[in-house]
Amino acid sequence: MSFEVNTLFLLTIDVEAILGLLLLLVWIQNSRVRAVAWWASAYLMRSLSVMLYGLYGSVPDLISIDLANVLLFSSFGVTWNGARVFNGRDALPGSLMAGAALWLVVSHWPGIDGGSEFRGQISSMIIATYAWATAYEFWRGRNEPLVSRWPAISLFFTHGALFLLRTPLTALLRGKDAEAVLSSAWLSVLSLEAFLMTIATAFILLAMSKERTELRHKTAAMIDPLTGLLNRRAFVQDGETLLQQQIARDRPIGVLLVDLDNFKSINDRFGHPVGDKVLQIFAKTVRGCLRQTDLVGRLGGEEFIVVLADAGHDNAFLVADRLRNAFAANAAVVDGQALYSTMSVGVSVILDPRQNLSDLMTLADQALYLAKARGRNRVEVAAIEAAERKEEASAEQLTPPQGASERAA
Ligand code: GH3
Ligand code: MG
Ligand code: MG
Repeated sequence: MSFEVNTLFLLTIDVEAILGLLLLLVWIQNSRVRAVAWWASAYLMRSLSVMLYGLYGSVPDLISIDLANVLLFSSFGVTWNGARVFNGRDALPGSLMAGAALWLVVSHWPGIDGGSEFRGQISSMIIATYAWATAYEFWRGRNEPLVSRWPAISLFFTHGALFLLRTPLTALLRGKDAEAVLSSAWLSVLSLEAFLMTIATAFILLAMSKERTELRHKTAAMIDPLTGLLNRRAFVQDGETLLQQQIARDRPIGVLLVDLDNFKSINDRFGHPVGDKVLQIFAKTVRGCLRQTDLVGRLGGEEFIVVLADAGHDNAFLVADRLRNAFAANAAVVDGQALYSTMSVGVSVILDPRQNLSDLMTLADQALYLAKARGRNRVEVAAIEAAERKEEASAEQLTPPQGASERAA
Protein backbone atom coordinates (compact mmCIF):
# COMPACT_ATOMS: atom_id res chain seq x y z
CA MET A 1 0.00 0.00 0.00
CA SER A 2 1.45 3.38 -0.89
CA PHE A 3 0.27 6.91 -0.21
CA GLU A 4 1.00 10.25 -1.78
CA VAL A 5 2.35 12.86 0.60
CA ASN A 6 -0.73 14.94 -0.20
CA THR A 7 -2.98 12.08 0.95
CA LEU A 8 -1.06 12.16 4.18
CA PHE A 9 -1.64 15.89 4.55
CA LEU A 10 -5.32 15.43 3.88
CA LEU A 11 -5.55 12.66 6.48
CA THR A 12 -3.87 14.83 9.12
CA ILE A 13 -5.92 17.89 8.27
CA ASP A 14 -9.13 15.87 8.50
CA VAL A 15 -8.34 14.22 11.82
CA GLU A 16 -7.08 17.39 13.45
CA ALA A 17 -9.84 19.61 12.10
CA ILE A 18 -12.52 17.18 13.26
CA LEU A 19 -10.96 16.87 16.73
CA GLY A 20 -10.59 20.65 16.89
CA LEU A 21 -14.26 21.25 16.05
CA LEU A 22 -15.31 18.51 18.48
CA LEU A 23 -13.32 20.11 21.29
CA LEU A 24 -14.67 23.53 20.34
CA LEU A 25 -18.22 22.20 20.75
CA VAL A 26 -17.33 20.70 24.13
CA TRP A 27 -15.80 24.01 25.16
CA ILE A 28 -18.86 26.03 24.12
CA GLN A 29 -21.00 23.84 26.39
CA ASN A 30 -18.44 23.80 29.16
CA SER A 31 -16.51 27.04 29.04
CA ARG A 32 -15.29 26.66 32.62
CA VAL A 33 -12.82 23.96 31.58
CA ARG A 34 -10.17 26.08 29.95
CA ALA A 35 -7.92 23.17 28.93
CA VAL A 36 -10.47 22.27 26.25
CA ALA A 37 -10.18 25.73 24.68
CA TRP A 38 -6.40 25.36 24.48
CA TRP A 39 -6.68 22.00 22.80
CA ALA A 40 -9.39 23.09 20.41
CA SER A 41 -7.19 25.95 19.23
CA ALA A 42 -4.15 23.64 19.02
CA TYR A 43 -5.92 21.19 16.71
CA LEU A 44 -7.43 23.93 14.58
CA MET A 45 -4.06 25.71 14.27
CA ARG A 46 -2.34 22.48 13.31
CA SER A 47 -4.85 21.54 10.66
CA LEU A 48 -4.65 25.07 9.30
CA SER A 49 -0.86 25.01 9.23
CA VAL A 50 -0.76 21.61 7.49
CA MET A 51 -3.29 22.95 4.98
CA LEU A 52 -1.07 25.97 4.37
CA TYR A 53 1.94 23.68 3.83
CA GLY A 54 -0.15 21.76 1.32
CA LEU A 55 -1.06 24.98 -0.49
CA TYR A 56 2.56 26.07 -0.46
CA GLY A 57 3.36 22.95 -2.48
CA SER A 58 1.42 24.36 -5.41
CA VAL A 59 1.17 28.08 -4.71
CA PRO A 60 4.57 29.38 -3.54
CA ASP A 61 3.89 32.19 -1.15
CA LEU A 62 6.28 33.38 1.52
CA ILE A 63 3.51 34.62 3.80
CA SER A 64 1.66 31.32 3.74
CA ILE A 65 4.75 29.27 4.67
CA ASP A 66 5.66 31.69 7.46
CA LEU A 67 2.12 31.69 8.73
CA ALA A 68 2.04 27.90 8.56
CA ASN A 69 5.22 27.65 10.62
CA VAL A 70 4.09 30.18 13.19
CA LEU A 71 0.75 28.35 13.50
CA LEU A 72 2.55 25.03 13.85
CA PHE A 73 4.82 26.31 16.63
CA SER A 74 1.94 28.00 18.38
CA SER A 75 -0.14 24.85 18.19
CA PHE A 76 2.55 22.84 19.96
CA GLY A 77 2.82 25.54 22.60
CA VAL A 78 -0.95 25.61 22.96
CA THR A 79 -1.05 21.83 23.41
CA TRP A 80 1.49 22.18 26.20
CA ASN A 81 -0.54 24.96 27.82
CA GLY A 82 -3.64 22.76 27.55
CA ALA A 83 -1.80 20.03 29.46
CA ARG A 84 -0.68 22.54 32.10
CA VAL A 85 -4.21 23.86 32.58
CA PHE A 86 -5.52 20.27 32.62
CA ASN A 87 -3.21 19.75 35.62
CA GLY A 88 -4.66 22.82 37.32
CA ARG A 89 -1.65 25.06 36.64
CA ASP A 90 -1.52 28.44 34.93
CA ALA A 91 -1.10 28.63 31.17
CA LEU A 92 2.02 30.40 29.88
CA PRO A 93 0.79 32.25 26.77
CA GLY A 94 4.20 33.92 26.44
CA SER A 95 5.67 30.53 25.57
CA LEU A 96 3.63 30.44 22.36
CA MET A 97 5.08 33.72 21.24
CA ALA A 98 8.60 32.68 22.20
CA GLY A 99 8.66 29.61 19.93
CA ALA A 100 7.10 31.41 16.98
CA ALA A 101 9.34 34.46 17.39
CA LEU A 102 12.46 32.28 17.62
CA TRP A 103 11.55 30.52 14.41
CA LEU A 104 10.90 33.81 12.57
CA VAL A 105 14.26 35.20 13.70
CA VAL A 106 16.08 32.03 12.69
CA SER A 107 14.44 31.89 9.28
CA HIS A 108 14.66 35.57 8.35
CA TRP A 109 17.54 37.21 10.12
CA PRO A 110 20.20 37.84 7.49
CA GLY A 111 22.92 37.47 10.16
CA ILE A 112 22.13 33.76 10.46
CA ASP A 113 23.67 31.81 7.64
CA GLY A 114 23.37 28.17 8.52
CA GLY A 115 21.56 26.92 5.44
CA SER A 116 18.21 25.18 5.39
CA GLU A 117 19.49 22.21 7.38
CA PHE A 118 20.46 24.44 10.28
CA ARG A 119 17.11 26.20 10.18
CA GLY A 120 15.39 22.81 10.10
CA GLN A 121 17.32 21.72 13.19
CA ILE A 122 16.30 24.82 15.12
CA SER A 123 12.65 24.31 14.11
CA SER A 124 12.80 20.66 15.17
CA MET A 125 14.33 21.60 18.52
CA ILE A 126 11.56 24.08 19.28
CA ILE A 127 8.87 21.54 18.44
CA ALA A 128 10.65 18.77 20.37
CA THR A 129 10.86 21.04 23.45
CA TYR A 130 7.12 21.71 23.37
CA ALA A 131 6.29 18.06 22.71
CA TRP A 132 8.38 16.88 25.68
CA ALA A 133 7.03 19.63 27.93
CA THR A 134 3.56 18.33 27.04
CA ALA A 135 4.58 14.71 27.72
CA TYR A 136 5.98 15.87 31.08
CA GLU A 137 2.72 17.64 31.97
CA PHE A 138 0.75 14.50 31.21
CA TRP A 139 3.20 12.46 33.24
CA ARG A 140 2.74 14.78 36.25
CA GLY A 141 -0.94 14.23 35.65
CA ARG A 142 -3.84 14.70 38.01
CA ASN A 143 -5.19 11.67 39.76
CA GLU A 144 -6.44 10.29 36.48
CA PRO A 145 -6.19 6.54 35.92
CA LEU A 146 -2.87 5.75 34.27
CA VAL A 147 -4.49 4.38 31.13
CA SER A 148 -5.71 7.84 30.15
CA ARG A 149 -2.26 9.35 30.55
CA TRP A 150 0.00 6.88 28.74
CA PRO A 151 -1.30 7.40 25.19
CA ALA A 152 -0.70 11.13 25.59
CA ILE A 153 2.72 10.71 27.21
CA SER A 154 3.96 8.29 24.55
CA LEU A 155 2.51 10.41 21.76
CA PHE A 156 4.25 13.59 22.76
CA PHE A 157 7.46 11.88 23.79
CA THR A 158 7.71 10.07 20.42
CA HIS A 159 6.80 13.26 18.66
CA GLY A 160 9.63 15.15 20.35
CA ALA A 161 12.11 12.35 19.65
CA LEU A 162 11.18 12.14 15.97
CA PHE A 163 11.47 15.86 15.42
CA LEU A 164 14.87 15.92 17.03
CA LEU A 165 16.05 12.89 15.00
CA ARG A 166 14.62 14.12 11.71
CA THR A 167 17.74 15.90 10.50
CA PRO A 168 20.23 13.12 11.45
CA LEU A 169 17.87 10.53 9.98
CA THR A 170 17.67 12.38 6.69
CA ALA A 171 21.46 12.66 6.59
CA LEU A 172 21.87 8.98 7.44
CA LEU A 173 19.51 7.85 4.70
CA ARG A 174 20.96 10.12 2.06
CA GLY A 175 22.13 8.22 -0.97
CA LYS A 176 19.89 5.25 -0.35
CA ASP A 177 16.29 5.27 -1.40
CA ALA A 178 15.87 8.02 1.17
CA GLU A 179 12.73 9.55 -0.29
CA ALA A 180 10.72 6.32 -0.12
CA VAL A 181 12.03 5.22 3.28
CA LEU A 182 11.42 8.60 4.87
CA SER A 183 7.98 9.09 3.43
CA SER A 184 6.82 5.66 4.58
CA ALA A 185 8.39 6.33 8.01
CA TRP A 186 6.56 9.65 8.26
CA LEU A 187 3.38 8.01 7.08
CA SER A 188 3.59 5.44 9.89
CA VAL A 189 4.41 8.12 12.45
CA LEU A 190 1.62 10.41 11.32
CA SER A 191 -0.95 7.60 11.23
CA LEU A 192 0.14 6.46 14.67
CA GLU A 193 -0.03 10.03 15.84
CA ALA A 194 -3.54 10.53 14.50
CA PHE A 195 -4.54 7.26 16.18
CA LEU A 196 -2.97 8.20 19.52
CA MET A 197 -4.39 11.69 19.32
CA THR A 198 -7.86 10.27 18.87
CA ILE A 199 -7.42 8.00 21.89
CA ALA A 200 -5.95 10.80 24.01
CA THR A 201 -8.76 13.16 22.99
CA ALA A 202 -11.37 10.52 23.78
CA PHE A 203 -9.90 10.11 27.27
CA ILE A 204 -9.71 13.86 27.77
CA LEU A 205 -13.37 14.22 26.77
CA LEU A 206 -14.23 11.37 29.12
CA ALA A 207 -12.38 13.06 31.98
CA MET A 208 -14.14 16.34 31.19
CA SER A 209 -17.59 14.78 31.20
CA LYS A 210 -16.79 12.99 34.47
CA GLU A 211 -15.72 16.32 35.93
CA ARG A 212 -18.89 17.98 34.71
CA THR A 213 -21.10 15.26 36.21
CA GLU A 214 -19.25 15.52 39.53
CA LEU A 215 -19.65 19.30 39.49
CA ARG A 216 -23.35 18.96 38.70
CA HIS A 217 -23.84 16.52 41.59
CA LYS A 218 -21.87 18.74 43.94
CA THR A 219 -23.89 21.79 42.91
CA ALA A 220 -27.17 19.89 43.22
CA ALA A 221 -26.23 18.88 46.76
CA MET A 222 -25.58 22.53 47.72
CA ILE A 223 -28.22 24.53 45.91
CA ASP A 224 -31.91 24.90 46.66
CA PRO A 225 -33.56 24.07 43.31
CA LEU A 226 -36.50 26.50 43.66
CA THR A 227 -34.55 29.68 44.43
CA GLY A 228 -31.00 28.85 43.37
CA LEU A 229 -29.77 29.97 46.82
CA LEU A 230 -27.58 27.83 49.08
CA ASN A 231 -29.50 25.16 50.97
CA ARG A 232 -29.34 24.91 54.74
CA ARG A 233 -26.45 22.44 54.87
CA ALA A 234 -24.27 24.32 52.40
CA PHE A 235 -25.09 27.60 54.09
CA VAL A 236 -24.15 26.44 57.56
CA GLN A 237 -20.82 25.20 56.20
CA ASP A 238 -19.97 28.33 54.16
CA GLY A 239 -21.41 30.68 56.78
CA GLU A 240 -19.24 29.21 59.54
CA THR A 241 -16.14 29.51 57.30
CA LEU A 242 -16.92 33.16 56.53
CA LEU A 243 -17.53 33.85 60.24
CA GLN A 244 -14.15 32.35 61.21
CA GLN A 245 -12.40 34.37 58.49
CA GLN A 246 -14.00 37.59 59.72
CA ILE A 247 -13.11 36.82 63.34
CA ALA A 248 -9.50 36.07 62.35
CA ARG A 249 -9.28 39.42 60.53
CA ASP A 250 -11.05 41.19 63.41
CA ARG A 251 -13.81 42.36 61.06
CA PRO A 252 -17.51 42.65 61.95
CA ILE A 253 -20.13 40.25 60.61
CA GLY A 254 -23.92 40.45 60.60
CA VAL A 255 -26.63 37.79 60.29
CA LEU A 256 -30.10 38.50 58.91
CA LEU A 257 -32.86 35.98 59.47
CA VAL A 258 -35.81 36.57 57.16
CA ASP A 259 -39.34 35.14 57.32
CA LEU A 260 -41.98 36.21 54.82
CA ASP A 261 -45.15 37.59 56.37
CA ASN A 262 -48.47 35.74 56.24
CA PHE A 263 -47.12 33.42 53.63
CA LYS A 264 -49.60 30.70 54.48
CA SER A 265 -52.44 32.94 53.38
CA ILE A 266 -50.74 33.62 50.03
CA ASN A 267 -50.56 29.87 49.48
CA ASP A 268 -54.14 29.41 50.61
CA ARG A 269 -55.58 32.22 48.50
CA PHE A 270 -53.55 31.93 45.31
CA GLY A 271 -52.17 28.41 45.39
CA HIS A 272 -48.75 26.87 45.93
CA PRO A 273 -47.26 27.85 42.53
CA VAL A 274 -47.91 31.53 43.29
CA GLY A 275 -46.24 31.04 46.67
CA ASP A 276 -43.25 29.54 44.85
CA LYS A 277 -43.12 32.55 42.55
CA VAL A 278 -43.01 34.89 45.57
CA LEU A 279 -40.11 32.84 46.97
CA GLN A 280 -38.25 33.23 43.67
CA ILE A 281 -38.89 36.97 43.66
CA PHE A 282 -37.44 37.15 47.14
CA ALA A 283 -34.31 35.27 45.98
CA LYS A 284 -33.86 37.66 43.07
CA THR A 285 -34.40 40.71 45.27
CA VAL A 286 -31.96 39.56 47.92
CA ARG A 287 -29.24 38.87 45.34
CA GLY A 288 -29.71 42.34 43.88
CA CYS A 289 -29.33 43.99 47.31
CA LEU A 290 -26.15 42.27 48.45
CA ARG A 291 -22.48 42.24 47.61
CA GLN A 292 -20.82 39.25 45.95
CA THR A 293 -19.04 38.33 49.19
CA ASP A 294 -22.24 38.12 51.25
CA LEU A 295 -23.92 34.71 51.63
CA VAL A 296 -27.61 33.93 51.21
CA GLY A 297 -29.30 30.64 52.01
CA ARG A 298 -32.78 29.20 52.19
CA LEU A 299 -33.22 27.53 55.55
CA GLY A 300 -36.50 25.92 54.46
CA GLY A 301 -40.08 26.99 53.67
CA GLU A 302 -40.12 30.80 53.49
CA GLU A 303 -37.23 31.32 55.89
CA PHE A 304 -33.96 32.71 54.60
CA ILE A 305 -30.64 33.67 56.09
CA VAL A 306 -28.02 36.18 55.04
CA VAL A 307 -24.48 36.58 56.34
CA LEU A 308 -23.03 40.03 55.70
CA ALA A 309 -19.26 40.35 55.71
CA ASP A 310 -17.92 43.60 57.23
CA ALA A 311 -21.28 44.76 58.60
CA GLY A 312 -21.68 46.11 62.13
CA HIS A 313 -24.99 47.15 63.76
CA ASP A 314 -25.87 50.13 61.63
CA ASN A 315 -24.75 48.61 58.38
CA ALA A 316 -26.58 45.34 58.98
CA PHE A 317 -29.74 47.27 59.87
CA LEU A 318 -29.47 49.44 56.75
CA VAL A 319 -28.97 46.41 54.47
CA ALA A 320 -31.89 44.61 56.09
CA ASP A 321 -34.12 47.64 55.72
CA ARG A 322 -33.08 48.17 52.11
CA LEU A 323 -33.89 44.52 51.44
CA ARG A 324 -37.26 44.87 53.18
CA ASN A 325 -38.14 47.92 51.06
CA ALA A 326 -36.97 46.34 47.82
CA PHE A 327 -38.99 43.18 48.46
CA ALA A 328 -42.10 45.18 49.36
CA ALA A 329 -41.79 46.99 46.02
CA ASN A 330 -41.28 43.82 43.90
CA ALA A 331 -44.64 42.37 43.00
CA ALA A 332 -45.47 38.92 41.72
CA VAL A 333 -47.93 39.09 38.83
CA VAL A 334 -50.94 36.82 39.39
CA ASP A 335 -53.60 36.74 36.66
CA GLY A 336 -52.44 40.14 35.46
CA GLN A 337 -52.68 41.57 38.97
CA ALA A 338 -49.75 42.67 41.12
CA LEU A 339 -49.31 40.78 44.37
CA TYR A 340 -47.13 42.54 46.95
CA SER A 341 -45.73 40.70 49.95
CA THR A 342 -43.75 41.76 52.99
CA MET A 343 -41.14 40.23 55.22
CA SER A 344 -39.79 40.49 58.74
CA VAL A 345 -36.11 40.47 59.59
CA GLY A 346 -34.14 39.66 62.73
CA VAL A 347 -30.58 40.96 62.76
CA SER A 348 -27.66 39.96 64.96
CA VAL A 349 -24.02 41.01 64.79
CA ILE A 350 -20.98 39.40 66.30
CA LEU A 351 -19.90 40.98 69.58
CA ASP A 352 -17.57 38.32 70.93
CA PRO A 353 -15.07 36.14 69.02
CA ARG A 354 -16.29 33.11 70.98
CA GLN A 355 -19.70 33.30 69.29
CA ASN A 356 -20.33 30.85 66.49
CA LEU A 357 -22.83 30.93 63.63
CA SER A 358 -25.41 29.03 65.61
CA ASP A 359 -25.21 31.64 68.45
CA LEU A 360 -25.77 34.43 65.94
CA MET A 361 -28.67 32.54 64.38
CA THR A 362 -30.31 32.08 67.80
CA LEU A 363 -29.98 35.82 68.53
CA ALA A 364 -31.32 36.75 65.08
CA ASP A 365 -34.20 34.36 65.62
CA GLN A 366 -35.13 36.14 68.85
CA ALA A 367 -35.05 39.47 67.02
CA LEU A 368 -37.20 38.00 64.24
CA TYR A 369 -39.73 36.83 66.81
CA LEU A 370 -39.82 40.41 68.11
CA ALA A 371 -40.35 41.78 64.59
CA LYS A 372 -43.32 39.46 64.08
CA ALA A 373 -44.73 40.35 67.51
CA ARG A 374 -44.39 44.05 66.80
CA GLY A 375 -46.58 43.85 63.73
CA ARG A 376 -44.45 42.37 60.89
CA ASN A 377 -42.90 44.14 57.85
CA ARG A 378 -40.07 45.43 60.05
CA VAL A 379 -36.47 44.91 61.10
CA GLU A 380 -35.29 44.26 64.65
CA VAL A 381 -31.66 44.14 65.75
CA ALA A 382 -30.81 41.57 68.43
CA ALA A 383 -27.48 42.94 69.49
CA ILE A 384 -29.00 46.29 70.35
CA GLU A 385 -31.74 44.58 72.34
CA ALA A 386 -29.06 42.65 74.21
CA ALA A 387 -27.04 45.82 74.78
CA GLU A 388 -30.17 47.53 76.04
CA ARG A 389 -30.86 44.70 78.44
CA LYS A 390 -27.29 44.87 79.73
CA GLU A 391 -27.57 48.60 80.19
CA GLU A 392 -30.91 48.14 81.91
CA ALA A 393 -29.44 45.64 84.32
CA SER A 394 -26.38 47.69 85.21
CA ALA A 395 -27.87 51.19 85.34
CA GLU A 396 -31.23 49.95 86.61
CA GLN A 397 -32.91 52.44 84.36
CA LEU A 398 -34.48 52.26 80.97
CA THR A 399 -32.39 53.88 78.30
CA PRO A 400 -34.37 55.03 75.26
CA PRO A 401 -33.57 52.57 72.45
CA GLN A 402 -30.95 53.96 70.11
CA GLY A 403 -32.16 54.07 66.58
CA ALA A 404 -31.98 50.84 64.69
CA SER A 405 -34.76 48.72 66.10
CA GLU A 406 -37.07 51.68 66.31
CA ARG A 407 -36.31 52.81 62.82
CA ALA A 408 -38.26 49.86 61.48
CA ALA A 409 -41.27 50.48 59.26
P1 GH3 B 1 -45.87 34.66 59.65
O1 GH3 B 1 -46.09 36.05 59.16
O2 GH3 B 1 -46.11 34.54 61.10
O3 GH3 B 1 -44.56 34.11 59.27
O4 GH3 B 1 -47.00 33.81 58.95
P2 GH3 B 1 -46.81 32.70 57.86
O5 GH3 B 1 -48.14 32.46 57.23
O6 GH3 B 1 -45.75 33.08 56.94
O7 GH3 B 1 -46.42 31.49 58.77
P3 GH3 B 1 -45.29 30.47 58.58
O8 GH3 B 1 -44.00 31.18 58.46
O9 GH3 B 1 -45.35 29.47 59.67
O10 GH3 B 1 -45.71 29.81 57.20
C1 GH3 B 1 -44.90 28.98 56.49
C2 GH3 B 1 -45.68 28.53 55.29
O11 GH3 B 1 -44.80 28.39 54.17
C3 GH3 B 1 -46.30 27.18 55.48
C4 GH3 B 1 -46.10 26.43 54.18
O12 GH3 B 1 -47.33 26.12 53.57
C5 GH3 B 1 -45.38 27.41 53.30
N1 GH3 B 1 -44.30 26.79 52.54
C6 GH3 B 1 -43.23 26.13 53.02
N2 GH3 B 1 -42.43 25.73 52.01
C7 GH3 B 1 -43.00 26.17 50.85
C8 GH3 B 1 -42.64 26.08 49.46
O13 GH3 B 1 -41.62 25.51 49.06
N3 GH3 B 1 -43.48 26.64 48.55
C9 GH3 B 1 -44.62 27.26 48.94
N4 GH3 B 1 -45.40 27.80 48.01
N5 GH3 B 1 -44.97 27.36 50.24
C10 GH3 B 1 -44.19 26.82 51.20
MG1 MG C 1 -43.79 33.40 57.52
MG1 MG D 1 -41.92 30.60 58.53
